[in-house]
Amino acid sequence: MAEIRLHNLAHSYTSTPAGPEDYAIREMNHIWEQGGAYALLGPSGCGKSTLLNIISGLLSPSQGQVLFDTRVVNELTPEKRNIAQVFQFPVVYDTMTVFDNLAFPLRNQGLAEAKVHSKVQEIAEVLDLQALLNKKARNLSADEKQKVSMGRGLVRDDVSAILFDEPLTVIDPHLKWKLRRKLKQIHEQFNITMVYVTHDQLEASTFADKIAVMYGGQIVQFGTPRELFERPSHTFVGYFIGSPGMNLIEVRAEDGGVGFAGTHLALPEALQQRIAETDYRSLKVGIRPEFIHVWDEPYEEALQADVVHVEDLGTYKIMTLDLDGAALKVRLAEDKPVPQGRACISFPAQWLMVYADEYLLEAQASNEVQP
Ligand code: ADP
Ligand code: MG
Repeated sequence: MAEIRLHNLAHSYTSTPAGPEDYAIREMNHIWEQGGAYALLGPSGCGKSTLLNIISGLLSPSQGQVLFDTRVVNELTPEKRNIAQVFQFPVVYDTMTVFDNLAFPLRNQGLAEAKVHSKVQEIAEVLDLQALLNKKARNLSADEKQKVSMGRGLVRDDVSAILFDEPLTVIDPHLKWKLRRKLKQIHEQFNITMVYVTHDQLEASTFADKIAVMYGGQIVQFGTPRELFERPSHTFVGYFIGSPGMNLIEVRAEDGGVGFAGTHLALPEALQQRIAETDYRSLKVGIRPEFIHVWDEPYEEALQADVVHVEDLGTYKIMTLDLDGAALKVRLAEDKPVPQGRACISFPAQWLMVYADEYLLEAQASNEVQP
């Protein structure tokens, strides 16, 4: 078991990268602490598999170091790194029985056969594979094969970490939910560092204590599901997490705050200060649909928006508003009256974020220490 540290890591698949666009992983520093349950979340093509393969040793990075605890492991093969990796599609030996497939990583370690038996039984039970132990893997369904594949990843409890690369893609939705819970259970039981790659925010937040959101070859935020929701540190996190995502409006700095078209949004003094001392090309405000306040009665000091559309989703409604030319999504609780024609809204100061070139501006300069 180990803490995994990525130091000045970068990777390009071309041998002569011309610029940042040529990097699948842009220079990054990151720490996965020992024993954590982590998700690596991001859209297809953002570099998740590349990063995982660099950690496991299947891929050698063009720059930087991978450390397990304090040891640099760049030169170590995947076996020497002692990492288990589960892929999107099943990796099983078709001609072997399920039992032998699960036993394989243990026998490879030279474990005594009695111990092999008890471990295989244990993992078969967790994954509901007992009835299939004597079947040849080639006779299994896709779901069953993937469960065996996961079992092979989970069967050893002496690994440094277990990496999952979208392992539930081929699994049917009901079983998906069950397996995710199993994984969480296994994590709690063995306390092994687990990194779970997915492009599904629900999957990420049900499995992980902390989520790394990846975008364009970088980890743009590493935090709890709640932190990602409440304080997205990059507009991509705002947009990608939540349903619908965060409202983002292009603004300009003005006396006392920011504005767009004829609308002025007041900001706290400290934040105005930060905007003034920051160089940026684009300035945006962001606020989540859940955090926009809708007044029940007409209120003069509120912002006035046109109601464009209301979608009833049963336990809540999503209103689409037009605020001075900007489209806004607002989540309205079931019991709230639906404004007719015009809506009076406010952006509570604590939920109104400001982004300079897509990164969150904190009122205080950030004291975060890079690893
Ligand atoms: P993800 O797993 O998030 O979908 P990948 O790590 O597979 O993303 O890919 C990141 C980027 O690197 C993509 O632009 C992809 O096209 C590119 N890429 C991935 N594998 C290779 C490869 N073997 N050779 C060249 N480019 C690759
Ligand atoms: Mg991938």
